[in-house]
Amino acid sequence: MSSPIGLYVHIPFCARKCAYCDFASFAGREADQAAYVDRLIREMGERSRPDLPIGTLYIGGGTPSLLPAPLMERLLQALHRHFPFTADAECSCECNPGTVTADFLRVLRQGGINRLSLGAQARQMRLLGLLGRIHTWDQVVSSVSLARDAGFGNINLDLMLGLPGQTVKDVEETLAAALALKPTHLSCYGLIVEEGTPMKAQVDSGAWTLPDEDTERAMYETCRQTLAAHGFVQYEISNFALPGFACRHNCDCWQRKEYLGLGSAACGFLGNVRYQNPPSLDDYLDGKPAEETVLTPEDARFESIMLGLRMMDGVSEEAFRAMHGMSLDEAFPHCMDKPIRDGLLTRENGFLRLTRRGMDVQNRVLVEFLS
Ligand code: SF4
Repeated sequence: MSSPIGLYVHIPFCARKCAYCDFASFAGREADQAAYVDRLIREMGERSRPDLPIGTLYIGGGTPSLLPAPLMERLLQALHRHFPFTADAECSCECNPGTVTADFLRVLRQGGINRLSLGAQARQMRLLGLLGRIHTWDQVVSSVSLARDAGFGNINLDLMLGLPGQTVKDVEETLAAALALKPTHLSCYGLIVEEGTPMKAQVDSGAWTLPDEDTERAMYETCRQTLAAHGFVQYEISNFALPGFACRHNCDCWQRKEYLGLGSAACGFLGNVRYQNPPSLDDYLDGKPAEETVLTPEDARFESIMLGLRMMDGVSEEAFRAMHGMSLDEAFPHCMDKPIRDGLLTRENGFLRLTRRGMDVQNRVLVEFLS
């Protein structure tokens, strides 16, 4: 048997499209859910390999909790039929408040899901409304309570920073409300205003104003300090966990470990090939093949830097050499000199990592590795 790999399953259905969302997710396609699960099960048959044990599963979306419980049950049973899971597999499922039911959570537990990720985003109703979220904070609270009743102890809450009209005080209130729910993990994502979204149109028209850079930085610092004071360890630019609760699935991706992806728009990575299934729901249902990209050794080495620098631990020099057969200095001669001189990168105890200042200008640092 090989080392365990990851498995990602994409559920592309949403109750409504959020104002900032450019993910491959679709509202109003509930009628296709049964056919989609059938197609996923066919893809499991095509991609499963008995010699590849699954160490982490991540069911994401979209809104997985929009699937009716019997369909989720069918999906989970099929996953366990097709793939050999390790005994200690971390199995996560994303859920959105407002769509979570006790029945659905019971099905998840029975199907081996042991980690929940809830899209909470913000405490304030005015911000949830502006984001186009379908839920209130009270529904976040009741979803966590239902999850606890169903036996889930490992719960992440996603929060958002840098929203139009959001203040540092809003972030403080949101963090306090989130911490009161005793999560094991918090993801604090900075808003990215994507082209073609309603959010972009509102910002461009001047109707909505984004916080300035200093305010955004202050929000991020508020997260870092508040969460550190509550025992959370920051292990990635946007991710904080109580000791022992970092998301293994994501850490493995940032360390370039292999994973399979199932579902529309899902990506996978095996050997030196990355693939992406068709982003269009109809194309996926019609059985259109994935697009494959064969990585060159240079691509692979750059990926190790790009992904590894997201983590607070940074890039392990030893792991880099084991993966690529050469040292960081051989792979990137002189590329690290300037960012180290400028105080954006450090290199100590066998790890290359971004400094706090480097995190704010990550792209500027990465450009050096392309030169
Ligand atoms: S719930 Fe998530 S995937 Fe669905 S529209 Fe909102 S942001 Fe996008």
